[in-house]
Amino acid sequence: MNCEGPDCEDALKRLYLFLDHEIATGDCDQIQAHLDGCPDCMDEYSAEVLVKSLIVRSCAETAPEVLRERVLFAIRKITIETDISEA
Ligand SMILES: [Zn+2]
Repeated sequence: MNCEGPDCEDALKRLYLFLDHEIATGDCDQIQAHLDGCPDCMDEYSAEVLVKSLIVRSCAETAPEVLRERVLFAIRKITIETDISEA
């Protein structure tokens, strides 16, 4: 597929909003469809996703609620086991 023209440019512009989940689901489908048929934009998308994941990983505050609860549960479990062994 030829990757020149406003369609591609528009897709890349929306890509950033897509990554931030700031666009409507319908637009997401359009961008996804464009990425599926456009290797150039897919490359750009992959690079952006990689950067995003690195940023998320380096920022503990963005840890999902489930992970947070799992960590808190593990801490509580360790505390209880420590209490038992000391008794
Ligand atoms: Zn494209």
